[in-house]
Amino acid sequence: MDPFETQHFSLAAFHKRLPTKSNLLRRGVNISSATCSLCNDGIESENHLFFNADSQNTCCSTFADGGGRTAVLFSNFDQLIDWCYQLDLPRHAKKGFKGVFYAYIWSLWSLRNSTIFSNSRPVRES
Ligand SMILES: [Zn+2]
Repeated sequence: MDPFETQHFSLAAFHKRLPTKSNLLRRGVNISSATCSLCNDGIESENHLFFNADSQNTCCSTFADGGGRTAVLFSNFDQLIDWCYQLDLPRHAKKGFKGVFYAYIWSLWSLRNSTIFSNSRPVRES
């Protein structure tokens, strides 16, 4: 996936247009459960998958740190965007931060999809 596609994908996530289970239910799609496919502990939404909106049920912290600490600094997209705008860095450096985050969103979504379609949950190496 090229950088433009990851940016476009992240904007879809920002606008809550990804087919997360909570979005599918909101759209009236009949699915058996809204439980997250990755951690099986929480409602699958953008904030659950990509941010630490609820520190008890957050996918990203589950996979980022086996000690239970949350590695993601932001609770939602708004906090991330505010942080990027407040950075006192050259424009190209800000673009770099955004690019890293776009890749993070895309990678976690790809992991979520491969989990669903391979019917096996990822295992953290110790
Ligand atoms: Zn999860």
